[in-house]
Amino acid sequence: MVDQSLVPVPFTDLVAQHHNIADRILAASQRVFESQAFILGEEVAALEREIAEYCGAKHAIGCASGTDALILSMMALDIGPGAEVITSPFTFFATASAIHRLGARPVFVDIEPGSYNLDVAQVEVAVTPKTKAIMPVHLFGQTVEMESLRSIAKAHGLSIVEDAYQAIGAQYFGRHAGVLGDVGCFSFFPTKNLGGAGDGGMITTDKDELAARIRRLRVHGDIGGYEHVEIGLNSRLDALQAAILRVKLEELDAWTDGRIQNAARYDRLIQHYGLADAVEVPVVLPNRRHVFNQYSVRVTGGRRDQVLQSLRADKLGCAVYYPKPLHLQTCFDSLGYQAGDFPVSEATSQEVLSLPIFAEITAQQQERVVRGMARALGNTGLNQSPLFPEIRGQAA
Ligand SMILES: *Cc1c(COP(=O)(O)O)cnc(C)c1O
Repeated sequence: MVDQSLVPVPFTDLVAQHHNIADRILAASQRVFESQAFILGEEVAALEREIAEYCGAKHAIGCASGTDALILSMMALDIGPGAEVITSPFTFFATASAIHRLGARPVFVDIEPGSYNLDVAQVEVAVTPKTKAIMPVHLFGQTVEMESLRSIAKAHGLSIVEDAYQAIGAQYFGRHAGVLGDVGCFSFFPTKNLGGAGDGGMITTDKDELAARIRRLRVHGDIGGYEHVEIGLNSRLDALQAAILRVKLEELDAWTDGRIQNAARYDRLIQHYGLADAVEVPVVLPNRRHVFNQYSVRVTGGRRDQVLQSLRADKLGCAVYYPKPLHLQTCFDSLGYQAGDFPVSEATSQEVLSLPIFAEITAQQQERVVRGMARALGNTGLNQSPLFPEIRGQAA
């Protein structure tokens, strides 16, 4: 008999996801090999139509990665040397590096504690005559407070570039991430909610001219017939990625519903084991669809690392997104920020802990993770009988 308490729980399990759709993925790949058309072409055009329809955007443009999606979008908005772009310091590195890569300056604004997202109330004071855009990051799968952000952008004539990498399918008052600003950027990095078999990205917009410019920027600024009107990048989406992503897009809403259910189950388990004071569960704001690319709790009382180490020792999946805010990264020293500048981001980076939330995780695996946290915190709640008892001898 297997002692279930000793079976590891992975942080993500893309193998489980693949097994459920392997036949269709292989058939889609086969189709691409038969055509021998590997870059852009019909598969990419079809995925672009499907993503545009899914998000409710007029245009969708595939490119080589999420990072390139940000770079291409900002190039198309003429963001370059001398420009400032306001964004969050509590995000993945690429958000700010894309701004820096173009010679523009990332200007950070702290996050709000509940949603981990940009504190929109602090954005306006960061606007200067050099500000050209605001880049809200819909972190972990929940959208930023866009209505206030849009009115600030409007008042100052700024563009909004959404970093929607973690938020495909997320909604704000019924509208999708990717159509809440001027341009939306998605990544198909394999661990995103819609992940490819390698790198890939997508840009959404309702603006015809912007879309046309992004389309030519991704192919060296070529308008056709080797006629180059400006200098772009080589950043195209592979047909193989598109064919695979088209299969996965059909599953996306079911997977997302799974993530949402798993999140609710964690909320319940954390309550059940009496951990609610020590472990603050993610805040879902009204009128949002949070798609839980990550389920990130806040471990209070300076005990995050203790919990992290204990879960790791017990082989229970967990991760820290992100351990160091961007304003404190060595490569951004020249921006002149200091420790203490963004206290909420700094405190959050010490408290945040992401738990396994992939669609295929079982209730028993989730319970093992929460019991692991209770153990790490020396919690008496462990006396509680399990909400989801293991069936004896059953494999994980
Ligand atoms: C995944 C991610 C990126 C990077 O996207 P790539 O496709 O790997 O370039 C950027 N920003 C955020 C917030 C992400 O989660």
